[in-house]
Amino acid sequence: MAVNATPESSPPWVLDFADGDRSMADLLGGKGANLAEMTRLGLPVPHGFIVTTAACREYLRHGSEPPGLTALVDAHLARLERDSGRRLGDPADPLLVSVRSGGRFSMPGMMETVLDVGVTDDTVAGLARRGGDRFAWDCYRRLVQMYGRTVLGVDGALFEQELAAARTTLHVSHDGELDALTLRALVASFRRIIQREVGEDLPQDPREQLRRAVLAVFSSWNVPRARFYRRQEGIPDDLGTAVNVVEMVYGNTGPRSGSGVCFTRDPASGELGAYGDYLPNAQGEDVVNGSRATIPLAQLAQLDPAAYTALTGHLRTLEEHYRDLCDVEFTIEDGTLWVLQTRVGKRTAAAAFRIACALVDEGLIDLDEALRRVDGRQLSRLLHPQLGDTSGHDLLATGLPASPGAGVGEVALDHETAARWAREGRDVVLVRQETSPDDLPGIVAARAVVTARGGLTSHAAVVARGMGRPCVVGAADLTIDLETRTVTTHAGVTLAEGDTVSVDGTSGRVHLGRVPVQPSAVATRLAGGATDTGTDPVSDAVLRLLAHADERRRVGVRANAETLPDALAARQYGAEGIGLFRTEHTLLGPRRELVERLVLDRDRDDALRQIGELARADLVQVLEVMDGLPVVVRLLDPPLHEFLPDLTSLAVEVAVNDATGVEDAEAEERLAAVRRWHESNPMLGLRGVRLLTVLPELVDVQARAVAEAALDLRARGLDPRPEVMVPLVAESAELVLVRARVEAVLATVAAEHRTTLRVPVGVMVELPRAALTSGRLAAVADFFSFGTNDLTQTTWGMSRDDAETGFLRTYREQGLLAGDPFSTLDVDGVGRLVSLAVREGRRTRPDLGLGACGEHAGDPDSVRFFVAAGLDYVSCSPPRVPVARLEAGRAEVLEPVAGGAWADTR
Ligand code: PEP
Ligand code: MG
Repeated sequence: MAVNATPESSPPWVLDFADGDRSMADLLGGKGANLAEMTRLGLPVPHGFIVTTAACREYLRHGSEPPGLTALVDAHLARLERDSGRRLGDPADPLLVSVRSGGRFSMPGMMETVLDVGVTDDTVAGLARRGGDRFAWDCYRRLVQMYGRTVLGVDGALFEQELAAARTTLHVSHDGELDALTLRALVASFRRIIQREVGEDLPQDPREQLRRAVLAVFSSWNVPRARFYRRQEGIPDDLGTAVNVVEMVYGNTGPRSGSGVCFTRDPASGELGAYGDYLPNAQGEDVVNGSRATIPLAQLAQLDPAAYTALTGHLRTLEEHYRDLCDVEFTIEDGTLWVLQTRVGKRTAAAAFRIACALVDEGLIDLDEALRRVDGRQLSRLLHPQLGDTSGHDLLATGLPASPGAGVGEVALDHETAARWAREGRDVVLVRQETSPDDLPGIVAARAVVTARGGLTSHAAVVARGMGRPCVVGAADLTIDLETRTVTTHAGVTLAEGDTVSVDGTSGRVHLGRVPVQPSAVATRLAGGATDTGTDPVSDAVLRLLAHADERRRVGVRANAETLPDALAARQYGAEGIGLFRTEHTLLGPRRELVERLVLDRDRDDALRQIGELARADLVQVLEVMDGLPVVVRLLDPPLHEFLPDLTSLAVEVAVNDATGVEDAEAEERLAAVRRWHESNPMLGLRGVRLLTVLPELVDVQARAVAEAALDLRARGLDPRPEVMVPLVAESAELVLVRARVEAVLATVAAEHRTTLRVPVGVMVELPRAALTSGRLAAVADFFSFGTNDLTQTTWGMSRDDAETGFLRTYREQGLLAGDPFSTLDVDGVGRLVSLAVREGRRTRPDLGLGACGEHAGDPDSVRFFVAAGLDYVSCSPPRVPVARLEAGRAEVLEPVAGGAWADTR
């Protein structure tokens, strides 16, 4: 029977474990839903109930305890007492409960937990009968400390100082060695601290402890670090957390007890085998906070063979049930094993690919499911570089390889320094004794993270792995001195804050100085083609899933490239053509002066001839690499001022000439010309098709270059397939004009070669007006390519060049925007224009070609939108081609993306 009197219109506010299952994570939170599932599976889970996210949302909405919640909690508590055979507040044999947060999405360590709720002056003696005096006073000490900090808001450092003093007095190194008398004295001193700081005492009514602990966990949904974490991870702010109220079981009752965290497979490498950390005579928090050195899980097999065997059996059950890597928290109380938590575990990108393929081989999932289990963000992490040759760079320390990849930067010893230096554009490596959730901004800002303490499941490891930051934990050879701001190694090397180190998160090594960084093994394998299998299981898995994605996907993937090396890289990464060849790239560097000469009318004809020749030479190379594949050549696009001398400098030069009596007629002439062409807002001025209309000779030379390059290659027996694209069109008449000019030149060149040449002419849709009038545009275009960089800029009215440094960051910090519309497509606004243009364009012309070539075309979430919008291809920078291939394949096996939230469309 579910005891419940939740208001009728609302989902239940409290549910027993026995009444839920894993499908209810929205309501029960991930932790609660999995506890309920494990209860159904018959695993040894302590009794408990869940105060749901619906109750939390109600609390957050009104800022006070929902009426009736206490009565509901009391009713469920009565059932818990019946099931466990103990009563809260019973002086003879008290029930204690843990009160744990747990939202829909895992937010490791970000919210609060209160353990040992139910210890009071009246119950501590009864508790001692269960596990001894030391145990009872240790529980009491933990409760006062957690309640003081979490519920009453007392500064946790005040308690830590007392604990440190007690350890020093007793000459012990960790809290587990404090004796009963000391713990009892600590309880008294903690209560005095609380009295002094907030004028309250720990309630001696256990139900009041429970009530306030639940509300404090609700409130912790909105602590700054939790909000920050949600922003980083794209988790909505309005979900609220559930609260799990669970019968306490104790890992700290003596040597036959302990706590551990483990995985069904190695979450770093993906290798098969139970793997984790165990700490005898300890509660779970001691394992994850890194305060004591854990032992490898395998040693539990010797310490307690029966518990180990039972545990590995449960791990197998869970993996087969969830058909995925699971992580598990467990406690052994006097030889009895309890499973306290499980979830589908976080893993490195490498492990994600490897595990997905292993599960296919084990027959637990099929290849489509494997494709759902990996994503483009993980793949792009794997394509990241690794540390190269470390010889000549002293090995400073070796720790546990918690998150792979390489990071080089200056040592920063706290998160504020790390974040500040990163904002100044410096590369930093965050080096800490251990990390706490408060270090999150530092982890985000750092190129890599190193901690002196902590295991592979420590907070730093979990967070860094989730974010793809290279991370080494438990580098015990490092001593960090925050007074002198130095780090000293075992071998006696002293580093000052600001010295450079190189971190290898794959091997766990930290080196002195700047080690060169090498491309990733996966990237190298991809570049080498898919033939040499069997050398590296991660690359094998990536290639296998990429091949499956290729089989599944319907949209093409092209690259944005205009140089020979980029075109070669694009092909190696699997590009099926070039979706954007920016012709202005043929005019970079000193070549830029050619456009200046054209505009300022100096040796115009010669300048035009050279512009054409340069374009032709580059095009021949790229068309040759892309033989048989489309190459979309975009006519000159950038704002004119990018080709002209700077007005201010020129004006100063002329003024100085005037003042010093120097005659420089050419400078004066240039100044007059630059003034004539000057615009106050060039990004919205003379660029794209407008420049081509004002200087139509530019169209002629470029069209000729395309035609001649193609005919050259054709003469050599190749199959060049150029297409011409006109940028920044707002009105179909612009396209009609330029298209006519392009086709005239193509026809002339073809006639000169006594042949014919068919080159499709298309248009970039990168202005809202183009999208809104796409029906008319399609009548004169062979294809559309969505230039979503400009389309985002012009739809939002927000400069694409300044957004990151300007107000957009403030917007994100204030939660006004979930993501950056310049990296992930704004489906609601820009996406709507894309969809409209697709629909109206195809209505006019059913065979209209459709592509996207802005930055978004290589962004995992946006690729899935483009697929759903019905495009034929996406085109992105060469290194992102594999990411786009993978996501385009995933789009076919996942739910289609709807136009909705755009920060995280999954
Ligand atoms: C675009 O605007 O999306 C685009 C691809 O063109 P560019 O970035 O060259 O302006
Ligand atoms: Mg553009």
